[in-house]
Amino acid sequence: MPKSKFVDFKAVKAAITMEQVLEHYGLLDRFKRSGDSLSGPCPIHKGTNPTQFRVSVSKNIWNCFSECKHGGNVLDFIAKMEGASIHAAALKAIEWFHLDPEAVSANSERDEEHPGETPKSNVSSPAKPASKKPAPAEETGTPNKPLKFRLDKLERTHPYLAERGLTLETVVDFGAGYCAKGVMAGRIAIPIHDPEGNVVAYAGRWPGEPAEDTPKYKLPQGFRKSLELFNIDRAVKEPAEKPLVIVEGFFDCMRLHQHGCRKVVALMGSTMSAAQEELIRKYTNGESQIIVMLDEDEADSAGREDIACRLSRFCFVKMHQFDKPGTQPENLPADEVNQILGGAL
Ligand SMILES: [Zn+2]
Repeated sequence: MPKSKFVDFKAVKAAITMEQVLEHYGLLDRFKRSGDSLSGPCPIHKGTNPTQFRVSVSKNIWNCFSECKHGGNVLDFIAKMEGASIHAAALKAIEWFHLDPEAVSANSERDEEHPGETPKSNVSSPAKPASKKPAPAEETGTPNKPLKFRLDKLERTHPYLAERGLTLETVVDFGAGYCAKGVMAGRIAIPIHDPEGNVVAYAGRWPGEPAEDTPKYKLPQGFRKSLELFNIDRAVKEPAEKPLVIVEGFFDCMRLHQHGCRKVVALMGSTMSAAQEELIRKYTNGESQIIVMLDEDEADSAGREDIACRLSRFCFVKMHQFDKPGTQPENLPADEVNQILGGAL
């Protein structure tokens, strides 16, 4: 990595979490989790009191209420631990967490375009406790911002991807892959794009059945999936006369795409948010056809009707119902998909 390069501190801070940094130092198991906060002995002044050092997970900041009487963001923390400058801390973070050096170099200008906006985490003054920071994005309704980094070195040939029936071509096409280090370490990272094609988040799927306390999916702090539709950026480029297929999950979407059904988006859940409805409305018209293909599950039937009813106000909607309970679109063979689409493949 060229050490002379200017580093975009904001991009580095947004790309890594305090949890990861604590884990990097082998400290995470000394910390107790309670709601949004992690508390433990202060690793900076090497204290022993288990509640003196606190991390706000959502704000990605820390505070030592004891000797240090100080707090800050992830880079401040690394700088203190290493006895180094913020710049040196950022370079270390880039190396440790395999961030793409190009994406976090200060040559990119994005944040400078929005000088009025508050960066995610910039607490460096001990006088200001963490709780006085402005509300995070999920409370203020701001859109998800394009990421300024890319996860590189993703393992495209991880067995879990093949297990879910995805070909290497599809995996590469969607930019997914197993992430060994970084924000989505130990998970299959799947990039989520906004309609303009910017990556706004990575979703991390645990490869297999996770333990009880491990979530199947991990999404970045502050990311609002209800504002996005997975694969919308590519679906909107498909011919208007083709039906738009709406499914629940990432893997449903990727599998249908693999079968040649390219005008497909995923809700990333079994409900449709108002923002998602608005997105669909924006990219369709009164002539458009929509096929809703949700997982066949008794519990979802009310949700399905709600989605159909809302979409039918502005386009033609067909709800596809599977005969067998428990059917998921990702398990359909290509010919069956083609049949459902009325031979549109
Ligand atoms: Zn301390």
